Amino acid sequence: MQILLIFFIAIALPISLSAQSPLGLNHEETHDLRTLEKEFDSHIDRQDMHVWMREMSSRPHHIGSEWNKHNRYYIASLLESWGYEVSLDEFNILFPSPNIIELELISPLKYTASLTEMPVDGDVSTFNTSELIPPYNAFSIDGDIEGELVFVNYGVPEDYELLERFGIEVKGKIVIAKYGRSWRGIKPKLAAEKGAIGAIIYSDPEDYGYTVGDVYPDGAWLNDTGVQRGSVMDMPLYPGDVLTPGVGAVKGEERLDIDEVQTLTKIPVMPISYSDALPLLSSIGNEVAPNEWQGSLPITYHLGPGPAKVRMRLEFNWDMIPIYNVIARLEGSIYPDEWVMRGNHFDAWNFGAADPISGLVSMLAEAKAISEMVKNGYSPSRTIIYGAWDAEEEGLIGSTEWVEHNAETLKRNLVSYVNTDGGSKGFLNIGGSHTLENFFNDIIKDVNDPSLNVSLFDRKVADLLVNGSDEEKDHIKKGNDLRINALGSGSDYSPFLQHLGVASAHLNFSGEGDGGSYHTLYDTYEHYTSWRDPDLVYREVLAKVAGRSTLRLSESRILPFNFSNFLDTVNLYLREIKLLSESLRLETRNVNSLLDEDIYRLALDPAKSFSPPRKTPNVPFFNFSILDNNLDMLSNAISIYEKAYYEKGIRPENIIYLNKLLYQSERLLTRDHGLPNRPWYKHHIYAPGFYTGYGVKTIPGVREAIEENDFEIVDQQIIIVADIIKDLANNLLDASNLFY
Ligand SMILES: [Zn+2]
Repeated sequence: MQILLIFFIAIALPISLSAQSPLGLNHEETHDLRTLEKEFDSHIDRQDMHVWMREMSSRPHHIGSEWNKHNRYYIASLLESWGYEVSLDEFNILFPSPNIIELELISPLKYTASLTEMPVDGDVSTFNTSELIPPYNAFSIDGDIEGELVFVNYGVPEDYELLERFGIEVKGKIVIAKYGRSWRGIKPKLAAEKGAIGAIIYSDPEDYGYTVGDVYPDGAWLNDTGVQRGSVMDMPLYPGDVLTPGVGAVKGEERLDIDEVQTLTKIPVMPISYSDALPLLSSIGNEVAPNEWQGSLPITYHLGPGPAKVRMRLEFNWDMIPIYNVIARLEGSIYPDEWVMRGNHFDAWNFGAADPISGLVSMLAEAKAISEMVKNGYSPSRTIIYGAWDAEEEGLIGSTEWVEHNAETLKRNLVSYVNTDGGSKGFLNIGGSHTLENFFNDIIKDVNDPSLNVSLFDRKVADLLVNGSDEEKDHIKKGNDLRINALGSGSDYSPFLQHLGVASAHLNFSGEGDGGSYHTLYDTYEHYTSWRDPDLVYREVLAKVAGRSTLRLSESRILPFNFSNFLDTVNLYLREIKLLSESLRLETRNVNSLLDEDIYRLALDPAKSFSPPRKTPNVPFFNFSILDNNLDMLSNAISIYEKAYYEKGIRPENIIYLNKLLYQSERLLTRDHGLPNRPWYKHHIYAPGFYTGYGVKTIPGVREAIEENDFEIVDQQIIIVADIIKDLANNLLDASNLFY
């Protein structure tokens, strides 16, 4: 025994640990982790999730409401009872709630919009409406306006181009737009830029109602009185409390004057149901809307303007209210200063069974399972933190304020952030930092899809081989990892990824649970358990996927960041941008060589479904060479790092420094000055689009400058991205030098 011990010490003396898996673990340790994950799975209990979901979605729980407070304490006491150290972090934010919301058709006939969602038989929750916040769009400005209506289809840029072809202007008018095809906040933003004085958004049955399927309660889809609430804050500029951009909205912090706030809408905007939209749309005259613009209401849709004329009256209570995030910690036993974080919001617009409780119950099940393992002797190597966010619905406010307030500590200690939110049954969608792409590929090979009994990975591959693009099929056939999506905005990962530069991911099952209830009265427990994910089986799988990410990030010896996948993705984005600039260059050159009378002739032909060509500045050649060169440098650095990782050893005393270099790598993709015209967004690889809202723009500084004809800043933005890539390459060379 004695001899054996000495022998062990002797071979341990060079103190070298060689990494045998992407987690920096040897075979035995990998086996132990698998055992741990099996135990984790055994603690996930769907009955728990039913109980929690039923409780938290039994009453409306928007911010400031009684049930929001109840849920906050409910979540906190669950986490506390499982042994977490729990705090309630308070912020004071500006919250506009509806005081007067009125809409009236005043000519050619009179109609007062009901703006009321009706209860349905078979869903008792829907009768409990006394605490429900009325349908409205948060962060619309007040207004009392009258104007003729113009129908603008979805109110996206190409819709306005088509209206211009018909010679229809929205200047001085009120637009009525369908929900869909863009994030809702883009609709009033564009309408205001075009000179409209107000905007109405409604859910057309073609997208949300009887055309898609039976309406609630016979099916999942939206009935005629349902209204989608939602924020229209200009989040692509900055999310969070509108009065405190960039700093936490704690008491005593300096605040903007409301007149200085840039993220309120410029015009009043309100959402309505399709039963309220019908009399409005049927009173619009003039030109018949093009075929593709016709929705599913039993009328012929016209463009206007007028003769339909409406009066819109909106008045909000612009109150300061406290909000509270629930933060739960489990201290790491080996690396307590390295934090692995999960998050999901708990506030809702309504009963919120799907959004957000369906995601929250998965996170709670995960937290409980880990606490059970702790009772059985497990102690996490890194610190694990769970965040249940308040005020997500109004504009990611709870998470953003928390991130801004704790920015310096989080930049130092936070390894990763994994987000979830509402979902249904269906396919797993993963969005996130591409340094985590390989990591999540490994996880979804180990978790099975409950309806098919194949791995989530195999199911996704089968789907892509049938429905994917040629590029995607090719990518998969070559044996590459499945691509994960780039993240724009729309949930609480945004401040972590885009403001701080923390490697983040967003996990969501969707695509097979019927919809239509989003942000309406009908997002209830009854609806969810009838149509969205009846037995919560996909809630269970979500917990298994997210829980594995928490466990593996906590237990890896060397953090599982993979830079080859990142490089491959950036190269893909760069190819797209080069193609974009080349095709725009040819297009502008061709158009600018057309004679004015040719353009006039094309514009007069309404049978053409394309927009008339417009003369714009010639797109010049841009200088991508510095970025190409630095990507080459990165490619080289990655090879050196990967060779060192798999072939050399590392001294235990260097592990902490190595991991710091690895998890700080995402910070290197940010710059303090941020993106052009929006300094809050500091990440130069991923951002929500300035005109797409939730939709992502990759390498946004360069791409948007080209798209928006801002040619003089393109080369300068290319240099910023090139610098970032160089910093990352140097960081990896530093990391490689820690191996020997
Ligand atoms: Zn949500």
